[in-house]
Amino acid sequence: MKVARTSRGQVRVGSEEASRWASFEARLRAEREEVDKALAADTVATEELAEGWQDRDSPSEDEIREMEYAQRQALRWRLRLVDEALNRLNAGTYGSCRECSASIGLRCLETDPATPLCVSCQVAAEGGRRKPTL
Ligand SMILES: [Zn+2]
Repeated sequence: MKVARTSRGQVRVGSEEASRWASFEARLRAEREEVDKALAADTVATEELAEGWQDRDSPSEDEIREMEYAQRQALRWRLRLVDEALNRLNAGTYGSCRECSASIGLRCLETDPATPLCVSCQVAAEGGRRKPTL
């Protein structure tokens, strides 16, 4: 592994981080392409959606349309997260929580390189969703 040194001879922090970020960026770009392709396709694979219904009655057209809509919404949401993460990589703020600027754990980033929140903000956001009224 290359160790970058500054002119003062100090080991520059973050060279290892930088190569990690590069691998996250590669994953994000690959995912972006995939999501983009899925969104560009005129119809979501309806047969695929319908397969999940094999054990039950066939879905109605309305239900299929609803599933397609939900899937496209999920894809768009995902694309936004991935884009935001790529923007943060460009801006040099990648790995920092969008809400509180705390650093996001590497393990979280490895699980999902697009994750915008640190663990505690994630928990807070999910808790808020579960309990909309206080
Ligand atoms: Zn946070």
